Amino acid sequence: MATFRQRALNEAAAHKTERYFVDERPVSAYFGQNVFDLPKMRKYMSQPAYEAVLAAIKEGAQIDRKVANEIASGMKAWAVERGATHYTHIFQPLTGTTAEKHEAFITIKDGQAFENFKGSALVQQEPDASSFPSGGLRATFEARGYSAWDPTSPVFLLDETLCIPSVFISYTGEALDMKVPNLKSLAALSTAATAVANLFDKSVKAVKVNIGLEQEYFLVDEALYNARPDLRICDRTVIGHTSAKDQQLSDHYFGAIPQKVVAFMKDFETEAYKLGIDLETRHNEVAPNQFECAPVFCECTKAIDQNMLLMIVMQNVAKKHNLKVLFHEKPFDGINGSGKHCNWSMQTDTGTLLLSPGKTGAKNLQFLAFYAAVTKAVYKHNYLLMSSISTLSNSYRLGGHEAPPAVMSIFSGAYVSGILKSILENDEILEDTSAKNAIKMVNAIPDILQDNTDRNRTSPFAFTGNRFEFRALGSSANAATAVYVLNTAVAESLTEFRKAVDDLEAAGVPRQAAILKTIKKFIDESKNVLFEGNGYSKEWEVESAKRGLKAVKNVPESYKAFIEKDSIKMFEDMGVLTSEETNARYEVLNESYVKKLQIEARVQGDICLNHVIPAAVSYQNILMKDILGAKEAFGEEFKDLCAAEIATYRKIAKFINDISRDVNDLVEARKKANKVEDFAERAKLYSTEVKDMMDKVRYSADHLEMLVDDELWPLPKYRELLFF
Ligand code: ADP
Ligand code: MG
Repeated sequence: MATFRQRALNEAAAHKTERYFVDERPVSAYFGQNVFDLPKMRKYMSQPAYEAVLAAIKEGAQIDRKVANEIASGMKAWAVERGATHYTHIFQPLTGTTAEKHEAFITIKDGQAFENFKGSALVQQEPDASSFPSGGLRATFEARGYSAWDPTSPVFLLDETLCIPSVFISYTGEALDMKVPNLKSLAALSTAATAVANLFDKSVKAVKVNIGLEQEYFLVDEALYNARPDLRICDRTVIGHTSAKDQQLSDHYFGAIPQKVVAFMKDFETEAYKLGIDLETRHNEVAPNQFECAPVFCECTKAIDQNMLLMIVMQNVAKKHNLKVLFHEKPFDGINGSGKHCNWSMQTDTGTLLLSPGKTGAKNLQFLAFYAAVTKAVYKHNYLLMSSISTLSNSYRLGGHEAPPAVMSIFSGAYVSGILKSILENDEILEDTSAKNAIKMVNAIPDILQDNTDRNRTSPFAFTGNRFEFRALGSSANAATAVYVLNTAVAESLTEFRKAVDDLEAAGVPRQAAILKTIKKFIDESKNVLFEGNGYSKEWEVESAKRGLKAVKNVPESYKAFIEKDSIKMFEDMGVLTSEETNARYEVLNESYVKKLQIEARVQGDICLNHVIPAAVSYQNILMKDILGAKEAFGEEFKDLCAAEIATYRKIAKFINDISRDVNDLVEARKKANKVEDFAERAKLYSTEVKDMMDKVRYSADHLEMLVDDELWPLPKYRELLFF
């Protein structure tokens, strides 16, 4: 067998199952031990410093430089006691990953070594902004950018380094990261949602967003991963014939978790617990070697930061287990891909879950007000929301017969959709504006138990009893993009909701009737986005188009949603992104699409020329030797005797010729696209001509995998990668 693959398979078979991160104590004894949380701050800081941080967390108050020095010294004391040698700001640039630049605590002064960490270093660092994607906001010669501490997310210890969650902005103040717009969207949403909540309860002062991110992922053995250049470089296979058995028996989903994987899960859970990440579920997913974990939901910013951190921890722990975690949305063709379901809800500072139907008519009216506002937001910005989850990697699963469908819709479940229907059909509400009628109507709403709601796994945006599950996010994504788009759209819609109620009240309509009328209006305007059926069906494809819902057929094309008038206005009105910032993001999205596809195309070309064709030629040589031998021994009879071999030889020759030509055309398609100045046009060419060529190349490569002697095939096959 090709030695490279053979060696990898032997190595994989020799990998043992062991636990590496064991803590015998109950989880509660070490939960959060590596996080500088409030109780630790109390212990390591003076009262004024502690109060300053608290005010920053709770009210977004500015931290004074002098106090910052004290806070820094408390943090340093805690970190150094635990063996930390460095500190770093950790931020989320537009690459979609996290970035860090470690600085040592150690300082030498007058020949004396001591650990030093000033308030100024805590509050601000200066990474080179021009080295990160900025969409033209930063030129190479104006490199300066700032990362600044975000006190709303706790500081933690990882690999002997004190990590300080930060935002990343340019010298002139534009957002260069995923976090700034998210924080701004949360502020906008809080203001707008509080105004609506105040219609029901004057004591509400703020509304927060809670999210729970379910993380799906694949695991592969490290040795096999290393033997596949495509996995190493692209995190996905760019060629590979499907395995005879994969997920068709549905025997993996919720099946017994393989021992090897359980050991890995327990280990990364232990490490995650120490970092205060409250993981609650683990299970097998649909595809072979695909798994999922989910933490308990928490405040939005923290949940996103923790998800980014969790991905780092999982990958670090995987190394010990000789495993690789694939967060890519579609590492393997032909089987399900991975998502990051985002469970999203709103909660008042008084503790009310605003998307939870209550026991009384008044509570239900409030629930419906928020439900209607979300519905309208999702309807109005349906294409932008789909665009916010569209990336090259997520596009490989978009619109397939698995989550997510390419078009946005909301699934409400039988209870809620029944209520919405009756509100729409009940014209009396509009005529009889007495409060009595409104209450009669909403009193009919049953208290929905979370577990009572039916599930619709084909919906990209499903109501699940007290929250929406935005199911379309890709597994590798930073959830912030989709979340800030959603937050902003809902903030806009809630602002409009409050205004509509105020206008009606000013015209003399009693409050409850005004609210119900507005609910009816909002649902009526946006009912086209409500859909209870099968989101994967052909019928819905036709029906959704009729309803004016636009499907994402092409990823760069969908990015235009960001720069549409309505989107720019929404981001500006809500104070989330300026039009320059939105345009910059649009450019970054396109550029990143092109670069990632360019890398995949190059890797595919290399693999075909360096691995596939040589293996195919070797096998042809064996066949030819045999055919010639037969001719020598049997004369003309060799034609009958070697008919199958001759046919195989011909087939292989055809695929070798095809693949050589197609790899060449693939290079030409890239060259042509690279010459195009306009970034959106270039991305378009990549998404059509380059991508189409890659499909052609893959077709031949996968056929050759079927024809060539298994002994000679150099790359680990799907059947070897997908089962432990
Ligand atoms: P399922 O796979 O059945 O959807 P999981 O248990 O895998 O459910 O994940 C559900 C996620 O939703 C968890 O992270 C959970 O904490 C979160 N969640 C539950 N209630 C809320 C809520 N009110 N707001 C936001 N997230 C929530
Ligand atoms: Mg789940």
